[in-house]
Amino acid sequence: MAAGCVIGVDLGGTKLLAGVVDPDLNVHHRAHRQSYGPTAAEVLDRVVDAIEEARSASGQEIAAVAVGVPSMMDQGTGVARNTVHLPLRDVPVRDLLAERLGLPVAVDNDANLAMLAEHRAGAARGCGHAVMLTIGTGIGSGAVIDGRVLRGATGAATEIGHMVIQEDGPPCGEGCPNNGCLESLVSGRALAREALRAAADAPRSELGRALEAGTEITGALVTELAHDGDPAARGVVALVGEHLGVGIANVVNIFNPEVVVVGGGVIAAGELLLGPAREVVARRALSPPKEVARIEPATFGAESGMLGAGLLALELAG
Ligand SMILES: [Zn+2]
Repeated sequence: MAAGCVIGVDLGGTKLLAGVVDPDLNVHHRAHRQSYGPTAAEVLDRVVDAIEEARSASGQEIAAVAVGVPSMMDQGTGVARNTVHLPLRDVPVRDLLAERLGLPVAVDNDANLAMLAEHRAGAARGCGHAVMLTIGTGIGSGAVIDGRVLRGATGAATEIGHMVIQEDGPPCGEGCPNNGCLESLVSGRALAREALRAAADAPRSELGRALEAGTEITGALVTELAHDGDPAARGVVALVGEHLGVGIANVVNIFNPEVVVVGGGVIAAGELLLGPAREVVARRALSPPKEVARIEPATFGAESGMLGAGLLALELAG
C-alpha cells in the first residue's frame, strides 16, 4: 500500500476523471464518468460515485480529496460561482462533498489545477511565466506569473477562453453573453461544428461518408480521421488550430510567457492542431515576446487537471 494517497478529480463539462494519486504522482486507479447532469445534485452524485469507485478499487487509505471545477471558484468558501457548461452556479461544492465523503476536500478551478501540475512537474516546469489552455468542451485557462498561479481580485483569473477573437462570431453559450469567444471557435464543439460543414462540402471524404452513414460527428471522430490522413478532417483541425493561434498570439503579447501549454481532450490532435497555431503566432504576435514563447502539448495530456487536483489534495493532507 502506498503511503498518503489522495484522490484528484477533474470535473469537465462532459466527462469527469477521478484518480488515486500518491505523493510521487503515480496514479493507482482511474474512474471515468459522464459529468453532465441537469441539476447540481446529479452532477455531484456522479463526482461522489467516481470517488467511491476509485477509493474502493485502489484499496488505498485516502487522506484527502480535491476537485477541479470548470467554474469561477470562490477560494475562501469553496463555492462555484459561475460556470458555462454545468449547472453549478453558487453551489457550495467543497462543503457538500466533504459532508458526503467524510474526508477533507479542497476545490479550485480545473484549469488552474492543470497549470499547477504542468508547472510543478510537466511542460512548464522551472518556468517563472507560463500560460495553460485546456481545450475540451470549452476552454479553461491558467497562468503562472513570477512562479505563482495567478488568481485575480476575486479568483476569476484567467478566462482566456472568453477572449473575443471574432467580434461577430458564433454565440459563446449559456453563461457567457458574448460572441466569437476563443472557445466558441476552438473547442471540441467547434471541431464538431466545423466538421459538419466540411463533411457537407466534401461528401466523398471520410468525414463526408461518416456523415452520410449517420455517424455522430464529434471532435474525437474528426481527430481520429485527421490522424488517418483524411484531407477534409485535417482541414478542419488546421482551421481550428489557426483560430487557436490567434488566441495564443494575444496571450503571448499580454503575458510574455516562456511557454504556452495546451492540454485537454482536443490536444489528441497533437501537431495537426499545434503546427498551424505556431505559424499564426509567428505571423501575428509581437517581438520580442514571440521569440521566447514555446507552444507545447501538456506533458500529462488530458490528465493534467486530475494530477493538479491530486497535488492540491496532497497539500491539504499535509
Ligand atoms: Zn464566452
